[in-house]
This record gives sequence, structure tokens and C-alpha cells, in this order.
Amino acid sequence: MKDEYGLGRQERLRLEVRGEPNWTEYDKQGRLELFYDENAQTFRAFQPVTIDNSRLVHPLADETAALDIGANNLVACTTTTGQRYLYEGRDLFERFRETTREIARLQSLLDDGRYSSHRIRSLYRRRTRRRDHAQDALARDLIERLYEDGVATVYVGALTDVLDTHWSVETNAKTHNFRAFRAFIDRLACTAEEYGISVEVRSEAWTSQECPNCGSTDRTTRHRDTLTCLCGFEGHADLTASETFLKRQTTVTRPMARPVRLKWNDHEWSESPRSCSNEERTNPQVASVGR
Ligand SMILES: [Zn+2]
Repeated sequence: MKDEYGLGRQERLRLEVRGEPNWTEYDKQGRLELFYDENAQTFRAFQPVTIDNSRLVHPLADETAALDIGANNLVACTTTTGQRYLYEGRDLFERFRETTREIARLQSLLDDGRYSSHRIRSLYRRRTRRRDHAQDALARDLIERLYEDGVATVYVGALTDVLDTHWSVETNAKTHNFRAFRAFIDRLACTAEEYGISVEVRSEAWTSQECPNCGSTDRTTRHRDTLTCLCGFEGHADLTASETFLKRQTTVTRPMARPVRLKWNDHEWSESPRSCSNEERTNPQVASVGR
């Protein structure tokens, strides 16, 4: 941009800001970051602002939500108001894997002694940016929904299928994904803070194989998105896991609504009309025969 506008190296670029800033002259403005969003073909600006505590948003009620984070479904969420959200990660993961394959192909074409190239580095950056963009947007979409639902506390269950076989296509995929998971939790906590919602990570919660009907963990089988149990229960595995997790953290539960499924289209998360194929039987009110 400096070249384009004929600015010297030491000269500053001055930009006008349009819109209504959500802060006042008394709030402390942090460093402004500009970056080019290739997907949206536009520049985006980020600026952290520290605002006075009394102006922070407060939760509308004292509801609780529990999240199950994975790779196929990025987030499965159940709230004490009975809302359920499912953020699908398959398309995003496919894109990630395509770029990874392309990087591997380009690496195999490099001359001996060379380990990278401009094109390879650019692909790495694009891959990371795409994932970060989708994750940032997910954190915001989810937190806004939870705020509307009156949620004050979000429990996050650590890693269920993130470290599973699917993601191992890449060297060091496990460490890489663990870092991505940490980054996502950080982003979620930052966004939640704006709404006065607290995020609690419970790493010991291993709920992904537990049957919500009979409580067994060794009589259940997971196949793709479906969890089945010898007692007759069948339900969406990740939503079931988030629901079981929620029940461990809180005592209040209301009847469950139809899950809202969300898909990423490179710009935003939007509701998908397609319902869970096995959702009819995920409702514990229907499946329950007592414990
Ligand atoms: Zn069972």
C-alpha cells in the first residue's frame, strides 16, 4: 500500500474510520491490526479496547451450556434451556485436507536441499487463516446465541474426537490440533467475556461414550455420528456427549428442542435446513426407561 500511495518508509498511512465505535474517549485503545482477508477480498481491522467495567454487558439469566468439541462436528452444544447447537466441521476439514495435500505435492517437487517455497508458505498461511476465520466466527455466533438464551456459564469438555484418526493425515497433526484447540478455547473465552459469560474447561469429563439412558460406557458403540447402546438407546453422538456433560455440571434440565445445525460457507455460519437423521431418538424423554 505504501508503494501504491507513494509513501516513504518512515511515513505513516492515515486511514479514516467509518461507523459507530462502541467505546468512548475514556476507554483505552490497543494496537490496531490490519489484514487482508483473501476469502472475502477485503481488508479487516482488529483493535482491542479496554472498557470500564460498569459498561460491560451482563448475562440475561443464570443458564448453563455445555460444549463438546471435536473435528467432524466442531462444536456440539446443549443448554439448560433445552437448546442444542451443532456446528459442522466436515466441509472445513475437507478444505483443510485439500490444502494439506497440495502442500505435500509441492514439497515433493522441490529441488534437493530446499524445504519450502513462496507458494508453499503462502498455502500454509492461507490454510491457517481460513481455519482461524471460521473458528473466530464460530465463537462469536455461538456466544451471541448463548447470550440470547440467558447463559451465564459455559462448560467446555476437552477433546473427544479431535485426536482421533481422521485428523492424523498430517505429520504432527495431534500437536497441531491440540494447539488449534487451545487457540479456539482462548478465542471463545475472549468473546464470552464481552458478554459477561464465563468459560470453564473441564478436561476430566469423558462423556463421549456414555449412554444417557443406562449410564454404561462399555455397552455403547459409536459409528460415525451415531451412538448406540445395548439398552436400546440411539442418538447423535456429539449432542449426546454435550448433554451428558451438561447434566454432570448442573441439575436443571428442560425438554430438548430440535437441534440447530450450522454450516460454514466461507463467510459465516448459517442454519442448515437439514435436520439430524437420528435426532428423533436423541431425546432422553422419549428414550428413557429409567435408571
Ligand atoms: Zn444404555
